[in-house]
Amino acid sequence: MIIIVKQQHDEKQLNNLVKWIKNQGLGVDLSVGAHSTILGVVGDTSKVDIDLVRSLDIVENVKRIQEPFKCANRKFHPEDTIVDINGIKVGGDNFQIIAGPCSVETEKQIVEVAKAVKKAGATLLRGGAFKPRTSPYSFQGLRETGIDLLLKAKEETGMPIVTEIMSVRHIDLFKDVDVVQIGARDMQNFELLKEVGKMNKVVLLKRGMCNTIEEWLMSAEYIMSEGTKDIILCERGIRTFEPYTRNTLDLSAIPLLKELTHLPVVVDPSHASGLSRLVRPLSLASVGSGADGLMIEVHNDPKNALCDGAQSIKPDEFEQIVEHINVMLPLCGKKEIV
Ligand code: PEP
Ligand code: MN
Repeated sequence: MIIIVKQQHDEKQLNNLVKWIKNQGLGVDLSVGAHSTILGVVGDTSKVDIDLVRSLDIVENVKRIQEPFKCANRKFHPEDTIVDINGIKVGGDNFQIIAGPCSVETEKQIVEVAKAVKKAGATLLRGGAFKPRTSPYSFQGLRETGIDLLLKAKEETGMPIVTEIMSVRHIDLFKDVDVVQIGARDMQNFELLKEVGKMNKVVLLKRGMCNTIEEWLMSAEYIMSEGTKDIILCERGIRTFEPYTRNTLDLSAIPLLKELTHLPVVVDPSHASGLSRLVRPLSLASVGSGADGLMIEVHNDPKNALCDGAQSIKPDEFEQIVEHINVMLPLCGKKEIV
């Protein structure tokens, strides 16, 4: 349920209304925008007397929200959410690039790649420490050591780090991680979502490869209902009948999400295509479709990468992509990458 509050309202009356709703065991999200003040009410609102609320002096209108996702709904929060990661802003007119290798392999590798992508314009460093691999015989990631090496790269470059969590048992290891990634395979691991929602961290939530947009937003809702407001959605391609690419990038998800939710949306063209030569065109298409950023796999030696070498680009190719993106950004209502 959303309650639209009159522009000219008495603060005391507004506080009383919030208190009255909370006393009924419901949650309230107050969204104060330039043009309106909206109270988003979450929980079982079926017992709330909607006519009584509508009759209040300060209330302009009351509406029930049809969609099952509430906190993530743009109707709840009409303004874009701008996520702040140590001063790096994701959402609104900002455009950020998360770049780095699929997996952290050695200190030299992660530090070298971090320095190269930062120089080219990336603002956040990615790297998998815990890797969700299809085969148990494939490289599983350096685990704790991987996180230590990411922190070392952060120390050297100042870049905040983004890395995937796969189990609630590992939560303590993520205490110094800036952005906790939920991978495609775990998008509906609801127990993990609930615990990550309690971590008080920025969460990068990737779309499950076989999940609808609504299911994806319901996963965001799981995290938000535990108190986390800062979620970045990441479209990374879905499974279709097309075998030429690893997945099929669902570009329509970007403008659709912009209508449905206030959360920022980034695109991962690397996992979407599985092919390094498609990373540039898909990156540009994502910018043109309204994305708030990109997550790109960059490796200093893709041929010998321990994971996802075929889709990884080299630092010089990354630099070129950033140059091309910069031409498009002002046309798409975004600030250029400096
Ligand atoms: C990744 O980003 O490292 C990854 C495993 O991606 P996804 O979960 O989208 O497959
Ligand atoms: Mn990968």
